[in-house]
Amino acid sequence: MNIVFLGMPGSGKGTQAERLLERLRIAHLSTGDMLRARIASGDELGLKAKAIVEVGAFMPDDIMLDMISDRISQPDCEKGFLLDGFPRTQAQAEGLDALMTQKGRKIDSVIALMVDEDILVERIVGRFSCKACGAGYHEKFNRPKVDGVCDHCGGHEFVHRKDDTPETVHRRVDIFHKETAPIIPYYESRGLLHRVNGMNAIETVEKDIASILGA
Ligand code: ADP
Ligand code: ZN
Repeated sequence: MNIVFLGMPGSGKGTQAERLLERLRIAHLSTGDMLRARIASGDELGLKAKAIVEVGAFMPDDIMLDMISDRISQPDCEKGFLLDGFPRTQAQAEGLDALMTQKGRKIDSVIALMVDEDILVERIVGRFSCKACGAGYHEKFNRPKVDGVCDHCGGHEFVHRKDDTPETVHRRVDIFHKETAPIIPYYESRGLLHRVNGMNAIETVEKDIASILGA
């Protein structure tokens, strides 16, 4: 099963991806995580990405499509994958379709996480993740069971993303409206789109998504 998660920054894509992947044995492709890994590695693409990602802007479509094309050809994507943070523009959505057709595959479902904008800053500014395993947490909505210890791996170090500031959130939301929102009718017209209320509690959203996907 090949799935796309669509939603504004802070809508819960990463949180729900983590949960869904425990149910479905498919690969999690977060383009944000992939880019942050390249930035950390300091290679040529990483340097380019650093300047763009840290201010909340988008990487060029062709670079993102090449990255996805390589990634979905890897063995762990054979049974399926969950795209989290991609596509983010109409051109990327069309490019993804062309790529899938070329590989004899297709997107099965698109989950759009719908949230009100006024909650995003609080969600984003309060989030952090485990440095060792990447598990996501929130100071208020999703704390580790034991303070300072990761539930998943027992790690003690946590990181905040550099781009998780109130200013950047507003910028990312503006870009979402301009660039990403048009993808919703694009997938809707093809009968692939499922809207989920992302304002509900994390467990409720998880159940809603699982029932749509039969997971
Ligand atoms: P995205 O990947 O879409 O940018 P995240 O999954 O990182 O968003 O969610 C942003 C923050 O909001 C996280 O810290 C997460 O714990 C919190 N969060 C996610 N979903 C919910 C929810 N349904 N209710 C409350 N907080 C949530
Ligand atoms: Zn961890």
